[in-house]
Amino acid sequence: MTQPKADKKPNIIFLFSDTGGGHRSAAEAIIEALDLEFPGQYTSEMVDFYLEYAPFPFDQAAATYAPMAQIPDIWEFGYKLSDGKHRSKFVQKLLWPYVRRGVTRLVKEHPCDLFISVHSVVNIPLLRGLPANRPPYMTVVTDMVSTHAFWYNKKSDIVFVPTDEALQRGISFGLDPAKIHVVGLPVADRFCHPVMDRAKLREKLGWPLDMPIVLLVSGGEGMGPLEETVRAISDADLPTALVVIAGRNQALKERLEALQYRHPTFVYGFVTNMPEFMQAADVIVTKAGPGTISEAFIAGLPIILYSRMPGQEEGNVDYVVNRGAGVWAPAPKNVVTTLRRWLNDPKERSEVVEISKSLAKPEASRVIARYAMAMLGKIPFEDVPLNV
Ligand code: UDP
Repeated sequence: MTQPKADKKPNIIFLFSDTGGGHRSAAEAIIEALDLEFPGQYTSEMVDFYLEYAPFPFDQAAATYAPMAQIPDIWEFGYKLSDGKHRSKFVQKLLWPYVRRGVTRLVKEHPCDLFISVHSVVNIPLLRGLPANRPPYMTVVTDMVSTHAFWYNKKSDIVFVPTDEALQRGISFGLDPAKIHVVGLPVADRFCHPVMDRAKLREKLGWPLDMPIVLLVSGGEGMGPLEETVRAISDADLPTALVVIAGRNQALKERLEALQYRHPTFVYGFVTNMPEFMQAADVIVTKAGPGTISEAFIAGLPIILYSRMPGQEEGNVDYVVNRGAGVWAPAPKNVVTTLRRWLNDPKERSEVVEISKSLAKPEASRVIARYAMAMLGKIPFEDVPLNV
């Protein structure tokens, strides 16, 4: 493996893809932590391997992700077909001829001293195609529980996972237990250190101060039956205001804006200040995305999961529900029933809040940032506490 020259700032390549919002959020959270802990001591680039280096149709992954994921049966079929030790190897062999040249080009165009992958499917071409004297390679798993086999590549030098369940899966896929660690899912520092109290935040956001706020969100792409859920809540007589985030789904945003609401309601497209939104809210109603769930734990929000992607997000539902940090409410009427209970019974709600907080792992980004610097020879490995 190569080591950076002592007189030069090391360059870190983040391998990600905009399939959903979670991969980008995780990469940005680690970069933010690196900037906070090691300002000016490194450089970084974010590379969407499939968009920039894979041939058609693989370069369309980000554009086709949201429409594909809206058809649960097809998504589940593809996900489960490739998830398994032997199946994943078969898919890797199949993909290899198409992505081989892209790896060579990436290495030439982006010389670096460390790779950090935050996307399972990127590991396939990179860890097969990188030369023997490659830079070190870190994998940061951004799924929570039902993690896909593609995440666990024995050639990765270190693998960080969000939960014990993800660690056990890695070991069952043959990873060396010394190379896989539970640190949590990297989330932005702004979630961990609120800058204002809730009243000031609400004033800034223009939200009411005298009633609870229910925040509805559906991943970066605005997927799942968000509109039906919003309609059902709006039709119910609940003592709350609604904040609805449609993400990058512009059509959904327009439909939501055209609805008539019985509650004070605020509709947004993709927002860049999610930490403020979560800190100012009282309850979150969300798709079972790992990023949003991990952020909600840190913000101490009780969670209503109203949809999940088959395969990769199924385990997230069990994780939240079994520990008592929220409920699974796949039909809009179940969402309304839970909201009614929580809004009318602050004691029950605050018990769920406490559990949600207890599951938070706010140190993940910083631990990963420090470990990255240790891999680059900038700090001793002993200075990186892995038991967070
Ligand atoms: N997100 C955001 N702005 C939005 C919607 C979502 O910043 O308007 C972020 C959210 O905070 C989270 C990520 O996008 O970090 C969504 O990740 P998740 O794993 O929950 O779902 P995905 O979009 O990857 O399916």
